[in-house]
Amino acid sequence: MPFDFQGTHVTVAGLGVSGVPAAKVLHGLGARVTVVNDGDDERARAQAAELEALGVTVRLGDGDTLPDGTELIVTAPGWKPTKPLFTAAGEADVPVWGDVELAWRLRGLDGRKAAPWLAVTGTNGKTTTVQMLASILKAAGLRTAAVGNIGVSLLDAVTGETEYDVLAVELSSYQLHWAPSPRPHSAAVLNLAPDHLDWHGSMEAYAADKGRIYEGNTVACVYNVADKATEDLVREADVEEGCRAIGFTLGTPAPGQLGVVEGILVDRAFVEDRQKNAQELAEVSDVDPPAPHNIANALAAAALARAYGVPAAAVRDGLRAFTPDAHRIAHVADVDGVAYVDDSKATNTHATEASLAAYGSIVWIAGGLAKGATFDELVAGAAERLRGAVLIGADRALIREALARHAPEVPVVDLDRTDTGAMLQAVREAQRLARPGDTVLLAPACASMDMFTNYNKRGDAFAEAVRELGA
Ligand code: ADP
Repeated sequence: MPFDFQGTHVTVAGLGVSGVPAAKVLHGLGARVTVVNDGDDERARAQAAELEALGVTVRLGDGDTLPDGTELIVTAPGWKPTKPLFTAAGEADVPVWGDVELAWRLRGLDGRKAAPWLAVTGTNGKTTTVQMLASILKAAGLRTAAVGNIGVSLLDAVTGETEYDVLAVELSSYQLHWAPSPRPHSAAVLNLAPDHLDWHGSMEAYAADKGRIYEGNTVACVYNVADKATEDLVREADVEEGCRAIGFTLGTPAPGQLGVVEGILVDRAFVEDRQKNAQELAEVSDVDPPAPHNIANALAAAALARAYGVPAAAVRDGLRAFTPDAHRIAHVADVDGVAYVDDSKATNTHATEASLAAYGSIVWIAGGLAKGATFDELVAGAAERLRGAVLIGADRALIREALARHAPEVPVVDLDRTDTGAMLQAVREAQRLARPGDTVLLAPACASMDMFTNYNKRGDAFAEAVRELGA
């Protein structure tokens, strides 16, 4: 039974991607809604005006005071648990839900079909995996969508006009933190590396929030055999009777796992007599790009789809139909026998490690805002494969020092400029260092905001510079 909001005094914390739809839906369900927001800029005022016209109360410029009479808070996922609003809520015994919790509680509203969730989290690869999963489910003829942290509102998917058979749901660690109730049909944690620790407070707290995705799973908890921390989370989860732990591996799968045998993605989990049998799903070359970490994403997506009962042929067709989003290991061009690859989305060291592992001989373009990261492990692991490095951005000295410590032989170009022409110079320097057969790889291991509006713009600047080389 969906929660009854009629007359309930709900405070929505934060305007924006999830706050505005949440306020509208709750108002439509008869709740007395107050929105509180820290900012008071033009955009916030426009959103506030739209909501006030509906009869919603909006308080701009004060996201810390708990409105009198609040019975429930629905928060934007990014709001830190240490905010005074939540301290006040705790003292007043007011529950706090995130957008995902609200969406879960509203499943099945007005007699709609409550589509089960196949959920994905992890430090890296979430968006790619969820898109692969949706593509596979579509290939199986199912009505589905990739929703959640991917930028498509889960709340809209749950309360909107379109009926779905099943949803491919990307969940961030923030969203999971504020979502105690969801019980996915099956879920995957792709990997676990330190990220957003300032928000969660510690690695343990971050891992615990990620682990919530397994709670109440009914068919499969999918984990990464190469990342023990993900398996530990499965062990700690409270799941439905009969729910299975399913591993994925880039090696030969044991019974109960999906893996790779001689270039073929195989399933030894969802087959009859898995001690003896394996089901061929697809070829490594069906996955774009066929980099090791992306094969892992494909296996995780396949595991969730197979848990849902999708036939093997649909896994292959769905993977073949999938094209990755821009700036994720995108091959831009070959110039004079050198491949130029844009992985601008590699904004942390864990993603960059995967990216660097995908190529043999690399001229690496890196740097930007380090967000507190250290680069020793990353550089030490990739040193043998580096032909050279070109460093850009505010925190490039950190990478330069790591290179000096762990790869002193590797030639390094340190670009001390942050203007719009800097990327063109970086690409030219990389071209100078590269030999035929090499890959020039933009995988910055850093955020982009010191030089660009976002990682998309950084990747665009790289592609533009590569085109100028070829011209
Ligand atoms: P997310 O949604 O978790 O940010 P994306 O699919 O958008 O993940 O990929 C983000 C970055 O992480 C990409 O640049 C890619 O290089 C890297 N990446 C993708 N999958 C993995 C993986 N399984 N392990 C490590 N890094 C990965």
